[in-house]
Amino acid sequence: GDEITARSIDSLATAHFPLCMQNLHRSLRRDAHLKHYGRLQYTLFLKGIGLSLEECLTFWRQGFSKITEDTFNKEYRYNVRHAYGDVGGDSNRRGNGYSAFSCQKILSEHPPGPGENHGCPYRHFNVENLTTLLQAVGVTDRSVLQGVKEDKEKQKPHMACNRVFEHVHRNELRRAKDEGTMNASELEMLVHPNQYFKRSYALKK
Ligand code: SF4
Repeated sequence: GDEITARSIDSLATAHFPLCMQNLHRSLRRDAHLKHYGRLQYTLFLKGIGLSLEECLTFWRQGFSKITEDTFNKEYRYNVRHAYGDVGGDSNRRGNGYSAFSCQKILSEHPPGPGENHGCPYRHFNVENLTTLLQAVGVTDRSVLQGVKEDKEKQKPHMACNRVFEHVHRNELRRAKDEGTMNASELEMLVHPNQYFKRSYALKK
């Protein structure tokens, strides 16, 4: 397929990223910064979609547009390389670094504190902020927003995420169904942000 580069992330985020990653992306563009755990969650996701280490470094360097090259190199470069397994030696020993976080991990570990943007908006945002974010990324259908609200109240964030996926991709899903081009794995519940990306990306073709 097309090469995934630092430059393509803006458009890929809008078209194919789950809400947790769109939220990180929008926060990065707004603040020209993300805190540690958000960088880690996002870096591992970007690595998982096939962004190379070089392109990922370019992406972060350009994203952190208010700091000097020197500060970037001193404070941020190492962690990106570490996530890719390019440096460091603990659980990183096999050389390919850490794997992307699953929804389960994002939902259950390190809830975001003030000023942090990682986590899952379907769990960690209140209903009002969640609705505002969904509307900002183009999900304005009232019955979908109502469904999300109910999923959230029942503490079923994945249900909300799958609901939004099905809504956003309703035309492609209908076509794939009609053409019989969807296999069983494409009908399974999404439980990983990279699975969300992969399915979304595949449906566009
Ligand atoms: Fe991200 Fe998973 Fe939450 Fe969806 S359910 S927004 S993929 S953490």
